[in-house]
Amino acid sequence: MPLADLVRPLTFATRPDADLTRIKGLEALVTARVTAWRDTLSDGAPRRATADRWLAAVADHERLPPEARRARLQTVLDGILALAAPPEPETPAAGALALTSDVRYLPGVGEQRAATLARLGIHTIGDLLLHLPSRYEDRRQLTAVAALAPGPHTVRGRLVSADLTTTPRRRMRIVEAAVADPGGLGGVLVCRWFNQAYVLRQLEPGREYLFSGKVTYDRRGLGLVMENPEFEPWREDEAGLHTGRLVAVYPVTEGLTSRQLRRWVAEALARVRVEEPLPAALRERLGLPERHAALRLVHRPEGPEDAAAGTRRLAFEEFFFLQIGLGLKRRGMARRRTRARLPNRAGPLERGLLASLPFALTAAQKRVLGEIGADLARGEPMHRLLQGDVGCGKTVVALLALLRAVDAGYQGAIMAPTEVLAEQHYRRITELLDGLDVPVALLTGGRRGRKAALEAIAAGQTRIVVGTQALIQDKVAFHRLGLAVIDEQHRFGVRQRARLGEKGDAPHVLIMTATPIPRSLAMTVYGDLDVSVIDQLPPGRRPVLTRLFTEARRDAAYAVVRREVKAGRRAFVVFPLVEESEKLDLAAATQARETLAEGPLEGLALGLLHGRMAPDEKTAAMEDFAEGRIHVLVATTVVEVGVDVAEATVMVVEHAERFGLSQLHQLRGRVGRGEHPGVCLLIASKAVSRDARARLKALVETTDGFRIAEADLELRGPGELFGARQSGLPELKVANLIRDQALLAVARQASRDLLGADPDLHAPAHAALRATVAALWKRRLKWGAVG
Ligand code: ADP
Ligand code: MG
Repeated sequence: MPLADLVRPLTFATRPDADLTRIKGLEALVTARVTAWRDTLSDGAPRRATADRWLAAVADHERLPPEARRARLQTVLDGILALAAPPEPETPAAGALALTSDVRYLPGVGEQRAATLARLGIHTIGDLLLHLPSRYEDRRQLTAVAALAPGPHTVRGRLVSADLTTTPRRRMRIVEAAVADPGGLGGVLVCRWFNQAYVLRQLEPGREYLFSGKVTYDRRGLGLVMENPEFEPWREDEAGLHTGRLVAVYPVTEGLTSRQLRRWVAEALARVRVEEPLPAALRERLGLPERHAALRLVHRPEGPEDAAAGTRRLAFEEFFFLQIGLGLKRRGMARRRTRARLPNRAGPLERGLLASLPFALTAAQKRVLGEIGADLARGEPMHRLLQGDVGCGKTVVALLALLRAVDAGYQGAIMAPTEVLAEQHYRRITELLDGLDVPVALLTGGRRGRKAALEAIAAGQTRIVVGTQALIQDKVAFHRLGLAVIDEQHRFGVRQRARLGEKGDAPHVLIMTATPIPRSLAMTVYGDLDVSVIDQLPPGRRPVLTRLFTEARRDAAYAVVRREVKAGRRAFVVFPLVEESEKLDLAAATQARETLAEGPLEGLALGLLHGRMAPDEKTAAMEDFAEGRIHVLVATTVVEVGVDVAEATVMVVEHAERFGLSQLHQLRGRVGRGEHPGVCLLIASKAVSRDARARLKALVETTDGFRIAEADLELRGPGELFGARQSGLPELKVANLIRDQALLAVARQASRDLLGADPDLHAPAHAALRATVAALWKRRLKWGAVG
């Protein structure tokens, strides 16, 4: 119901205290939603007239005086409510809250606080309860005033007096309270609050309180003082909220304190109804507390072990829901049949290629080919991820697999993320297939002869199609597509991946990536895929030597470039993208090239590659470089992943600190691919942070892509590594892929066991689980199908 979205903003805008001059875009929203709703109604329905009235009411309304606007908005709001559209979020039954309830149902949370909470991503009670403490303060140990010494303490004491004073010069308002042990002996502790005059109203002489804070010696000789302590009245029967216990400290933002959050969380915990989605048997087997209990344990633990147990449960369920979702998705795919059931042995073309290869396959390549061959021979479509470091030889493996399809009378396709890469694949593949009778076509965005190419593909004359995203356009119809290969998967979205898989009759899909993915992450991001790894480089490959330079020693780095060029080799110089603007990018690239041409690289032929160039300009630049008309290619966009120029031996990266580790690893994989060893020269400003320096050092020290990816993951989190958008997966709020790897394995096994026993989650004991997973995934990824 499109109107439900309007209830909240309209309620907000029609309050007497709302400042309508500051509310923008409401008219547009109302118009859009009401129009959408109107379109769902049949012609002549009386509600259509209602919709028209509302549309007229808000037309131009932003120009009306505020009172008139308010009245009109009120009409629309009343109308919507009268339609009995359930307002969103659902109104909780008296006193009770749901995890989906708005935080504004909490006492003390109004519009303003709600807006502050929204900055932390907290909109609902569920968000609030998953905003976990960053740490705890132990305020369990109570100290008597008589026993105080400097340091952090929680004191139980009787309030002797409390006064407000104002300092004469700086007009600072100070509340000062004297606190003594209940028995009255043992001296006095002075508690002092600066510029918090309201504290005075909360202090009642004669009553007992708990005070938590740091005790120090007073500068003016008043003895021991505690400045700005947290406090609350002492109650015999009740654990405190802020003192006398293990107290949660939350990540906060301006205008928000841990103290406020503690109060709201306690209120929410007391009133919220939490469903338990995990089956009891599973919980018992793994010793996991119930969901509601886990939330209590995390926010209001009795001891540190409580907090750990609660966190473990919450992290587990995140992993578990993710794995169940992936499992269901995978099952949805497995149920599809493919027509392309291929024989599990090489046919004439595949044997022909094997015989003509100028090298022998590595053991890892052979093993992976075996894994792929077995998949292709089954009746369900393959969904396999092929991982392997740059230069390990994925392309030839893909080509052999494609020939298996061609040998069996099917077509094959290989999709690359850029035109440059697609063209390079095309060249390499036609070279490798030289002498074998396999018609190969290149299909990219704006090519002449496209129509003829499409016809040859549709007629089945073309046996292997190499292309870019253009391959997944609707216009491209295959005759009999058997296998689709996607290169450099991390550059494509989940959606594109799925679209290629939908071409033809459920073709097999092989996905290749050179971004090494740590095991833990592969299990989550690609949990729906089988994984093969080429963990071996062809013999004789020397690792690229990596060196770190400060900017002061830039000339030394460029001396290496001159030396290599003199010896007949070529170099890349990569600059980070300036801002996200291509215009600036162009300026920066042009500038950089000029500076180099007039300075350290004077006399060499310099080319330029940047984000603003048209595809064929890029191709031309790459060709000039590949054929040696250009010695040094200055690039602002990251040099196309996968580009293969045998003579390129030097990779210079300027402002290396601005790149991610995996990105740098990719870049250095561009050189030393031929017979000559490669060097990678990282130039970083001296002023970079210690962290950044440590990262770059890690790169200098290891060439193991998997270790680098782990380090990247640790430093930047999976979102950045893959782009959360791109992975299309529910986000992890509690679980941590590094810290909780063991738990991830447990969750994965548990999800497999559970789906093995109840593949569709139809058992009554799994109803809540099914609903939870469905709700979680619905918003991210449509199962199986992709829209
Ligand atoms: P990547 O896995 O990064 O895509 P490529 O498929 O581009 O790697 O292979 C890198 C280079 O190694 C290519 O020039 C390819 O011909 C060569 N190559 C592949 N396999 C072998 C092998 N087994 N022995 C020697 N060279 C190989
Ligand atoms: Mg490649």
